[in-house]
Amino acid sequence: MKSLILLILGLLSFSIFAHSPIPNVILAIHGGTADTEEIPKNLEPEVIDGLFESLKAGYAVLKTKGSSLDAVEAAVKSLEDNPLFNAGKGAVFTSQGKNEMDASIMEGSTKKAGAVASVTQIKNPISAARAVMEKTRHVLLVGDGADQFAKAQGLKIVSPKYFYTDRRWKEWQKSKAKQNRSSQNSSPTAWNRHFSLGTVGSVALDIKNGLAAATSTGGLTDKMHGRVGDSPIIGAGTFADNETAAISCTGVGEYFIRYGIAREISSLIKYKQLNVVQAADTLIQNTLKPQNVEGGTIVLDPKGYLAFSYNAEGLPRGYVTQDGTAHLFVFDKEVVRLLK
Ligand code: ASP
Repeated sequence: MKSLILLILGLLSFSIFAHSPIPNVILAIHGGTADTEEIPKNLEPEVIDGLFESLKAGYAVLKTKGSSLDAVEAAVKSLEDNPLFNAGKGAVFTSQGKNEMDASIMEGSTKKAGAVASVTQIKNPISAARAVMEKTRHVLLVGDGADQFAKAQGLKIVSPKYFYTDRRWKEWQKSKAKQNRSSQNSSPTAWNRHFSLGTVGSVALDIKNGLAAATSTGGLTDKMHGRVGDSPIIGAGTFADNETAAISCTGVGEYFIRYGIAREISSLIKYKQLNVVQAADTLIQNTLKPQNVEGGTIVLDPKGYLAFSYNAEGLPRGYVTQDGTAHLFVFDKEVVRLLK
């Protein structure tokens, strides 16, 4: 009897612990939901290194009293430059065999935001999103207009060929073959999520208690030409409000747009006083999972409490606490490294 009680108490405290917000966090990143087919064991160390580089870039900003906006841009840029992730260099292919990228950024103190969608020549779409926020009256620029704007702003422009990687090309070929065999290829959930992962995102809290969020993606493998997902849609894939949280999402974008996931998480914190874990789980576990929609999110509140919620096998992710310790995960195993 006594051991049964102890077991129950143990399980209870484990589940409370597992679902408690992580305290003292100043920076967090994700690399999109993933499974063991996409990230086999031998690739895990490279993914951990990629995540660590990104945290390093973001932390370098925060350590020198930089803004959360600069930190999330730096962290996401690093992931965009890494071919392992589905953003920037490692973007997936559309049904026409091209790469079309989406990105957005938002500042929690001003509620200013910027985004680009369906861009094809901007090396770092997240910087273009920031330029839209800071240099225009608009929030979202798309396609050729966004590419031209980035060029005029002096951002790095590359040939569309820059975004070619063998790995993503092969994934596209496989995905097409699978879709041909599938009888329900018109449904968004029928898209083969195994071959479309790696969207990246970051949330940060700076010394002035300012939050920021950023998300960048190549979208879903074999998406239609011109398809735009949730990542550049403020309130769907990205949101930041100093009163509630900074939020970056990953998953089947159509659902994140329809459910306004990022904004909804913020509203649950604001109007229902949920904590970050409860708010994130409400959308990812209670709303999307029952519909078989894969997704994940990272949520950081103004007191430095962080939640990760995902309903896939894994969410490659990492965070840094105030003392400069980096915590990295591909699946459940934690790797701890010091940033100082
Ligand atoms: N949310 C992204 C999109 O739908 C994809 C992803 O997160 O993997 O474009």
